[in-house]
Amino acid sequence: MPSARSRPAVRGGEHESDTEFDDTEGILRRQSMRESAARTYARSLPVVPVRAQGMTVEGADGRRYLDCLSGAGTLALGHNHPVVLEAIRALLDSGAPLHVLDLATPVKDAFTTALFETLPRELADHGRIQFCGPAGTDAVEAALKLVRTATGRGGLLAFTGGYHGMTAAALAATGDTAVRGAAGGTVDARVTRLPYPYDYRCPFGVGGEQGAELSARLTESLLDDPKGGIQPPAGMLFEPVQGEGGVIPAPDTWLRRMRDLTAARGIPLIADEVQTGVGRTGAFWAIEHSGVVPDVMVMSKAIGGSLPLAVIVYREELDSWRPGAHAGTFRGNQLAMAAGTATLGYVRRNGLAERAALLGARMLARLRTLAEEHPCVGDVRGRGLMLGVELVDPDTDPGPRGVPPTAPRLAAAVRRAALDRGLIVELGGRDGSVIRLLPPLTITEEQSEAVLDRLADALVAATAVRA
Ligand code: PMP
Repeated sequence: MPSARSRPAVRGGEHESDTEFDDTEGILRRQSMRESAARTYARSLPVVPVRAQGMTVEGADGRRYLDCLSGAGTLALGHNHPVVLEAIRALLDSGAPLHVLDLATPVKDAFTTALFETLPRELADHGRIQFCGPAGTDAVEAALKLVRTATGRGGLLAFTGGYHGMTAAALAATGDTAVRGAAGGTVDARVTRLPYPYDYRCPFGVGGEQGAELSARLTESLLDDPKGGIQPPAGMLFEPVQGEGGVIPAPDTWLRRMRDLTAARGIPLIADEVQTGVGRTGAFWAIEHSGVVPDVMVMSKAIGGSLPLAVIVYREELDSWRPGAHAGTFRGNQLAMAAGTATLGYVRRNGLAERAALLGARMLARLRTLAEEHPCVGDVRGRGLMLGVELVDPDTDPGPRGVPPTAPRLAAAVRRAALDRGLIVELGGRDGSVIRLLPPLTITEEQSEAVLDRLADALVAATAVRA
């Protein structure tokens, strides 16, 4: 019997006969019976992955998929990249301890050096790192504690559409009220919610640079108005490109405005690069596009090379918190650090950020043609290999701002139809109406064409059912 590994690639969604025992149905049934009602991806992706390589995932039933979810943007090098596997194997074989709390090790030392080499000089030369692990939300939590301690202020500036994680302070900074409500979070009166420059659904109804400038002015006036009602902020937390919020890139000029506004008022600027980092947007870190150097950078996902790792790096002047201010048993994941060092090095050496910029621009251009053909595609946007297709209901009155309403059911149907065609995509944005593409930076041109073909087919199929 040929091993599954040696089978030829099949058109996604097709089923190859295989004499291996396939218990896909049983596994999925047991999952739905035993796992929590809070499970997420598992609900919309009835896939039981048993093998994965690069951007291909193979289910227990032999079906193969092109994975544009990439572990929610974690897998910069795709699944099981040889350099990552090699780094993990080498560490396992070396006899080094796998669990070390936050003790110094050669593995951690090498990771720190590799990470600092990627950071803006100002931050690398005068920065401190805190290992927060294991998840992105831990690092957000740490960043907020850090700035609250350093400034002695309690407030926080955060943005509409922002997503920062599921723990208390990160959740409070998250804009999605449904997500916050579902997670048992409440509105934190210390958080001031500011309008993120969302070109397509501009809150000021003008969009573009002008919309972004109005958002900056509102921020400025709230900060300076003694009767503005906001709690003095310990920091401003933002994503350079909002991910879960619906793939919304902030204009560089707006980011520079935020940097100037916060610097002039002594407010630490915190860049949440959990999803945008490690080449994803076409620069190693997304803030590089604008030249902005934040005071704190929050990093996770790709820095661990597919294993859990989360850190913050911040200006040393902020380092006034006490020993143990952000402790945690699992901050020393040696395998993640080794996998992360390998990933950071590979992305740098192979110019994968530049490649993401190039391929992303090409994919975006093709997505634009899709928008021309389908009135239900309201907007396509993105930066590098972080791409979004916002689906709308073109038949409903767009209202005074001239933008049609979201189309959550259509988006879910497209996701399903894509899966049937062997393509894994996720949804995000308002009402889950944005199809998100987060392929690995190693995606080939051929694969990128296949992704777009399958997505176009899925869109046609889903709109046909709806018509
Ligand atoms: N910040 C951003 C920008 C994210 O996209 C995410 C996760 N999607 C988080 C924070 C939280 O990371 P985690 O799920 O690892 O806690």
